[in-house]
Amino acid sequence: MFLSRLEIQGFKTFAKKTQLTFLPPKASRSPITAIVGPNGSGKSNLADAIRWVLGEQSLKLLRGKKSEDVIFSGSEGKGRAGFAEVSLTFNNEDHAMPIDYAQVTIVRRLYRDGTSEYLLNGSAARLIDIQLLLAQANVGQRSYSVIGQGMIDHILVSTPEERKAFFDDATGVKPFQIKRHEAMLKLTRTHENLADVEMLLREIEPRLRSLKRQASRLEQRGEVERDLHRLEADYYGAQWWELMGHKGETKKAFEEADKEIKQQRAQLARLEKETERVERSETGEDASLTALQETCRAFQKKRDALRSQQFETEKAIEMARVKAQSHWAPLPLLKIVEEVEEMVRGLRGLQGLRGLDEIIKGINALLGRSEKLSKNLQRPNPEDIKPDPALLAKLKELREQEENLGKDLAKAEAQIDAHLSQEKTARTELIETQRTLREKQTQIHLLENQRNTLQIDLARFEEREHALVREMDEFMKERAVNVREGDKGGQRAQRGQGGQELYPEIQHLREKLELIGGIDPEIVKEYEETKERHAFLAGQFEDLEKAIKSTEKIIEELDEQIEKQSKAVFSKINKEFERYFKMLFGGGSCQLVKITREEIENENSESEGGPGFSQSAVVGENAVENKLERLKDPVVGVDILATPPGKKLKALNLLSGGERALTSIALLSAIMAVNPAPFVVLDEVDAALDEANTVRFASILEDLSRSSQFIIITHNRATMEKADILYGVTMGTEGVSNLLSVHLEELTQNGTARR
Ligand code: ATP
Repeated sequence: MFLSRLEIQGFKTFAKKTQLTFLPPKASRSPITAIVGPNGSGKSNLADAIRWVLGEQSLKLLRGKKSEDVIFSGSEGKGRAGFAEVSLTFNNEDHAMPIDYAQVTIVRRLYRDGTSEYLLNGSAARLIDIQLLLAQANVGQRSYSVIGQGMIDHILVSTPEERKAFFDDATGVKPFQIKRHEAMLKLTRTHENLADVEMLLREIEPRLRSLKRQASRLEQRGEVERDLHRLEADYYGAQWWELMGHKGETKKAFEEADKEIKQQRAQLARLEKETERVERSETGEDASLTALQETCRAFQKKRDALRSQQFETEKAIEMARVKAQSHWAPLPLLKIVEEVEEMVRGLRGLQGLRGLDEIIKGINALLGRSEKLSKNLQRPNPEDIKPDPALLAKLKELREQEENLGKDLAKAEAQIDAHLSQEKTARTELIETQRTLREKQTQIHLLENQRNTLQIDLARFEEREHALVREMDEFMKERAVNVREGDKGGQRAQRGQGGQELYPEIQHLREKLELIGGIDPEIVKEYEETKERHAFLAGQFEDLEKAIKSTEKIIEELDEQIEKQSKAVFSKINKEFERYFKMLFGGGSCQLVKITREEIENENSESEGGPGFSQSAVVGENAVENKLERLKDPVVGVDILATPPGKKLKALNLLSGGERALTSIALLSAIMAVNPAPFVVLDEVDAALDEANTVRFASILEDLSRSSQFIIITHNRATMEKADILYGVTMGTEGVSNLLSVHLEELTQNGTARR
C-alpha cells in the first residue's frame, strides 16, 4: 500500500484545489518525496492536511484554536473559503487495508457552520471505521506517520503515557487496541446496563417479594374461600331447606286447621241457629202455657165465682123459701089499712097520668102491691113458695155459664196437658243441642288453639327465614340466591341434616380469612406483570453477564495478542533504537523501558505525590470499577533512557536540542525498521542536525525507504538530494500556496522544473 495522491482545497493556505501525486514503489523501494519552499509558504500546512484527513482531532497539533481555523481564512486579494476538504488516496492493490478496493480515498470535509464529514471512497463513513482501516494497514494517525515541525523530539518531551500511545502505534498493536477500546467501551456500557438492570432488579425485588407474599396469601385465601363456600353452601342449604320443609309443613297444617275451623264454624253456626230455634220454640210454648194456665186459673176463678154465684143464688132461692116460711107473720091491721089506702092513692094517681106506658107501669106496680099484700095476709106452703124467677133465671144462666166455662176449662187443661208433654220433648232436644253446641265450641276452641300454635310457628319460621336470608346475603352474597334457588340444598338437606355440626368449621374458616385479610385481586395481575418483568430483567441480567464475560474474554485475548506482539516488537525496537542511536551518536547507550500500572501504584503507595499517573492511581470505589480498572492495559507508559557517548546523564531534558533530535531520529528509525508504516511525513525533523548528522540521517532515510514511503519537508540539501521527487511550495501575493513539482529524474534530464 502506498500514498498515491493528496488533494487539498480550502485547507489553510491551499485555497485553490491543489493536488500532489506520489510515485509508486520502484525497485523494491518507495520513492522519497521532498517538499521544499521558503518559510511560510505553506509546507507544514501540507503535513497538517495529511494529519487532518487521517482524523486528527487535536487543535494543538493542527496548530489552530478552533476547528474552523483549518479553513482558508482569506487574504487581501482572495475571499475566505466556505469549507476545507482534504482527500488522501491510497493504492491498496496489496490490500493492506482489508477492503475490496484497489484504490482507497479518504475525504474529510469541514464547513464553516461546523458540520463535518468523512467519506470513504465517496460514501459517508465513521471516523472510527476509517481509523481501524488505517490502523490495520499500520498507518498511525496519532504518532509517527506524521511528524510535525518541531515535533521530532516531542516523543522525548512527552509524558510516558503519551509515549505509550506512540509505541502502541509503533508496535502495531493499534488495531488490537482499537478493538480493545471498543470492547472496553462495550464492557463499560454493559456494566452500566448491568448496573441499571441490577438496580431495577433491586428495586423490583422487594415489591415482587411483597406481591408474591400477597399473591400466595390470595391463593391461600382462595383455598380457604373455596372450602368456606362449599361448607356455607352445605350449611345454609341444609338450614334453608330444612326450614323450608318445616315452614311448608306448618303452613299446610295451618291451612288445614284453618279450613277445618271454617268448616267447624259453619257447623257451629248451624248448631247455634238450631239451638236458638229450639230455645226460642221452648220459650214460646212457655208463654202460651202460662197464658193457658192463667186462662185456666181465670176459668177456675170464674167457675168458682159462678159456682158461688150459683150457690148464692140457690142460697138466695133457698133462703127465700126459708124466709118465706119461717119469717111469715100476720100483718097488723093498721099496716093493712095503710097499704090499702096507699093502693087507693095509687089508683087515684093513675087518673093524673097521660101516657099509656106510664099508666100500665102504674097498674103493674099496684098489682104487685096488691099481690104482695095478699101474700102477706096468708101463711105460705113451702111447696107453694115459688122461687124468684129472676133468681131461677140467674141460676140457670149461671149454670149455663158454668157449663160453658167448664168446657173452656177442660179445653184449656187439655191444652196444658198437651203443652206439658210437648215441652218435655223440646227441653230434651234443647239440652241435647246445647251439649252438641258446647262440644262443637270446645272442638273449635281446640282447633283454634292448634291453629294459633301453628300460626305462631309459621311466624317463627318466617322470622327465621328473614334472618337466614339476611345472614346468607351477608356471608354468601350472590351465591345465596343459588343456594335458595338451587336443588334442595345438597344431600345434607335431603338427608334432613341441619348441618349444625358444620358451623364451628365455618366459623374457623371465617376467622382464618379475617386473619389473612382482604387482598386486592389486582395484586395477582400486578404480581404476574412484575414477575414477568423480573424474569425479563433477570434474563437481561444473565445475558449482560454473559456478554461481560465474553467481552472480558475478548479483551483478555486481545491483551494476550497485544502483549505478545508488543513484547516481541518492543524488544526489537529497543535493539534497533540502540543500533541507530550508536550509529548517529557514534557510541553511547539507550533503552526503552515499559512502565506498568503496578509499578506506578507501588511507587505511589511508597511515596505520596509521585509521577502524575493520575488515571492509574484511581482505584474504583466499587467492584465493577475495580474490575474495569484491572482490565485496563497494564502498560501505562514508556520511559526512554539515553546516554550519548562520553556522558553520564540519563535525564532527557538535559540533552541538547541536536542530541534530542538525534535520539528522536534514532528511535523513529528503529520503529520504521521494525514496524514500517506505509508512509511517513517528516516535517523538518532534520532542522537541528549538523551537516554530518544530516548526511547520516539522509542515508538512514534511503535505507528505510525500502519499507516506507517518505514525504519529507526540509530545507536540507543533503536530505533533498535523497528525494525522488520534489514539490516546491511558494506563497503567492494573495496569501495562497502554490505548488510546483520537480521530478528529479526529469530535472536531471531536462534541467527544468514543471509547474
Ligand atoms: P517554514 O518553512 O517557516 O516552516 P512553512 O512553509 O512550513 O514555513 P506553514 O507553516 O506551512 O509554512 O505556513 C504557515 C502560513 O500559513 C502562515 O503564514 C499562516 O498565516 C498561514 N495560514 C495558516 N492557517 C491559515 C488559514 N486558515 N488561512 C490562511 N492562511 C493560513
